[in-house]
Amino acid sequence: MQLRYAFRVYPNGPQRSALARAFGCARVVFNDGLRAREDARAAGLPFVSSGELSKRLTTAKVTPERAWLGEVSAVVLQQSLRDLDTAYRNFFDAVNGKRPKVGPPRFKSKRDTRQSIRFTANARWKITPGGDLSLPKIGDVRVKWSRPLPAVPSTVTMIKDSAGRYFASFIVETDAAVDLQRMPDTDSVTGIDLGLSHFAILSDGTKIDSPRFLRRAEKRLKKAQRDLSRKEKGSKNREKARAKVARAHATVADARREFHHQLSTGIIRENQAVAVENLVVKGLARTRLAKSVHDAGWSQFVAMLEYKAARHGRTFVRIGRFEPTSQVCSACGVKDGPKPLGVREWACGACGTVLDRDVNAAVNIAKAAGLAVSTCRAQVSPGPVPAQREEAGTHRDGYPTVAGIPTL
Ligand SMILES: [Zn+2]
Repeated sequence: MQLRYAFRVYPNGPQRSALARAFGCARVVFNDGLRAREDARAAGLPFVSSGELSKRLTTAKVTPERAWLGEVSAVVLQQSLRDLDTAYRNFFDAVNGKRPKVGPPRFKSKRDTRQSIRFTANARWKITPGGDLSLPKIGDVRVKWSRPLPAVPSTVTMIKDSAGRYFASFIVETDAAVDLQRMPDTDSVTGIDLGLSHFAILSDGTKIDSPRFLRRAEKRLKKAQRDLSRKEKGSKNREKARAKVARAHATVADARREFHHQLSTGIIRENQAVAVENLVVKGLARTRLAKSVHDAGWSQFVAMLEYKAARHGRTFVRIGRFEPTSQVCSACGVKDGPKPLGVREWACGACGTVLDRDVNAAVNIAKAAGLAVSTCRAQVSPGPVPAQREEAGTHRDGYPTVAGIPTL
């Protein structure tokens, strides 16, 4: 299993220049490869293979126009071609419906908010006895080690974000059996509906919204974007406003990741098994109008649930096929057809149970995954239990305060 560990790094002046050069070279190699494939496609020629691109890169390095590529580690450039391959693979998989929608590979720009290069094991990078990160043709970079690495990492990615901060992201390959960080066993299982009205709804009735720190960061980003749109094109102030937007973007991304980490850790700790709906199916089932603002964050959140489940020996189930989660009564199982989106609760025509749309969906997801969840949670009434859970589940500011998620 692969684990990722990211740390803030502090390159000095010459190292920042060397990194900027490496980012630039990796970008040019990526763009050259993309252009070669695009040109071939336009000319009706077959797809240019990875081997062929690699060969062209070697030839390009001896030409005067591309000689400067020799100033950076060859591994970084090869890795850039691998990244191009990955971008194509993701695109083809999306076209074939195997993963959520992604566009075709795009040309990289100097103005992209995130610059990165990757060093694999054969790039001869290392962590020095003094704790610096030694990178070929860049130097020994100072790292702020916020936690220990569990094993020797195989790969390191150097990242510069839009706020001008640098990070080293290590990949550590671990034996899953050795790594398994056992959490105490629990009887709880849960289904999660990624809803329109809330970020997520658990089958026990807990409704989770974005926490205040994230919504505040999003508000600041919106304001920065408004300010930017009012600045005159080409002006100094516009440049400043643009930098401010970039920093606000980075803050929102950090806050969102933090929220996803807290929530996924809490859910995995509290449940022996977790079921979610496949996001591809979810996307298909959704009209354009109903497209939620949460969409972007869900795949990151679900990915966290999946790897944390693997790490801690929990069961993670993705409902692969389309389940009409809002059409079926979670209490008696009768399918009484689709309901307009505005209908948030209804009484089952067969058994009379009053159902909450989102919680009913979460219970149905858990059931479709074969998890034995209590169905009464989806009921709005009668019975005081679900109502209480609901009130306790989401605090006014969006923090779930229910005991189920103690890390929030
Ligand atoms: Zn029913």
